[in-house]
Order: sequence, then C-alpha cells, then structure tokens
Amino acid sequence: MIIKNSFEQPMPGFVSILFALSLSMVISANANAAKMQINILKPTNSQEAENLEILTENNALDETVKFINDAVSFDYPVTLSVGAEDGPLFDPAINDISLPFMFVDTILTHFESSLGDLEESEQNAIVLDVVTHTLLHETAHALIAQLDIPIVGKEEDAADALATMLLLEYHDSGTDIALTAADMFALEDQSIDQFENADYWGVHSLDIQRYYSTLCYIAGNNDDERQLIIEDELLSEDKADECIDEYALMVSSWEALLGNSLSDL
Ligand SMILES: [Zn+2]
Repeated sequence: MIIKNSFEQPMPGFVSILFALSLSMVISANANAAKMQINILKPTNSQEAENLEILTENNALDETVKFINDAVSFDYPVTLSVGAEDGPLFDPAINDISLPFMFVDTILTHFESSLGDLEESEQNAIVLDVVTHTLLHETAHALIAQLDIPIVGKEEDAADALATMLLLEYHDSGTDIALTAADMFALEDQSIDQFENADYWGVHSLDIQRYYSTLCYIAGNNDDERQLIIEDELLSEDKADECIDEYALMVSSWEALLGNSLSDL
C-alpha cells in the first residue's frame, strides 16, 4: 500500500493507528516528523522468498529503517517497497523507495566472484551492509526532494556523501558498513570491461570514484581507519590527510542543509 503525503490526505483508520503507534515508539529529533515505513510485497518465486528471508533475518530491515527514522525526519511519510520491480530508487512523485528482491542477487554475484566461497552468514552480513548503505542513499534523495535542498554538483555524489556520513556519525557499525559499501563499488568497477560514453555522462560518478570517495570519508572521519588505509596503500598519505578537511566540510554542509531534519543524537 502506498501512502502519499498523508498529512494532506485522509488515511484509512487502521493506518492512522499504526502510524500513531510507530510515532510514539520512536524517539528522534522531531517526534512529530513523518517516518519511513516498510511495505513488503509478496515474493513471486522461491528465489525472491529466499532473498526476503535474508533481508528480514533478525529484523535486519526493521532495524535499518528504525536507524533511518532515528537519524533523520521526513516532511512526508516515505514508503519502502520491498520486492518492487525496479530499483533501488526513490520516486519523489509517490515518496516511495523501491528495493527489488533481486538486488540481493546483484550484491551476492559481485562478492561471490571476488571473495570465493563465503560462509552463508558472512554473505548475508555483506548483503545487509550494502542494502543499508543503499537505503541511506535513497533516503538522501527523499530528503533532497522533500526539503527542496539545493544541489550544486551531482545529486548522486551528494546522496553517497550523506549515506556515508549518517553511517559514520550515527551507526554503531558505520565504518564496517561503509567499507563494505566501498568494496561493492570497487567490485562493480571490476565487472566493467570497457567504459562507454554513457558511463562518463551518466548521473553517477564512476564506481571507482564512488569507491575512493567513500574511502576518503572513512579516512577523514577516523584516525585509526586513516592509518590503516594509508598502510594498505588504498590512499596516499597526502590524499588521506586531505580527507580530514573534505569530510569535515561535507558533514558541516549536510548539517547546515538538513537543519532540524537531522537528529542531534
Ligand atoms: Zn541515487
């Protein structure tokens, strides 16, 4: 069920009750703010059902959405449609984030081919890390649209930046999740044999650039991680040092743009 701009439109009674309950249970920056809520669509085959199990194991998806609702507040309710056909994407016309079941396969395919035979629990943890980063990226698109946030570069870069910032500033396992997300970008880059013009004029930066941007934010956020990144020669020492200011500027910019929509947890 899609709930669009429900502050402006009457909602069915039971939805109102559920919505009120969820508001009372979640403590965030703005208790009256609109929330993200999950709508799980019915799997159409056993593969989709298996993927849904991975996503919902140990309430993983609920926890991620709770994290998002604690970290930011929306102007209008956002529906997370799990099992939608297309995506991952945010549709501003209906305030809906689509997460297809098959996105799980996309993630597993990238990691399986590079890291050999992982334990099932390790595979699932990787899937959930990438999904969490992806949902935060789509959350950024939702906030940009709802709050009319000005964007003076690539919106996709800004969305990546906010996703990484929310992880590093608010999430207990944020660094690990951001590192997995960076790995996913690196693996996506490795899966490309030859770049085409469309890769250069696309709305996203190249995957390899998204990899290094994420690494740079991690290096800028944490001294120990920066040392490890330098020791592993993932970034040069000069670049890693520059990342301290780059990260601080990114964080203060997003804080200024989001204002009260960002939690002060
Ligand atoms: Zn995007």
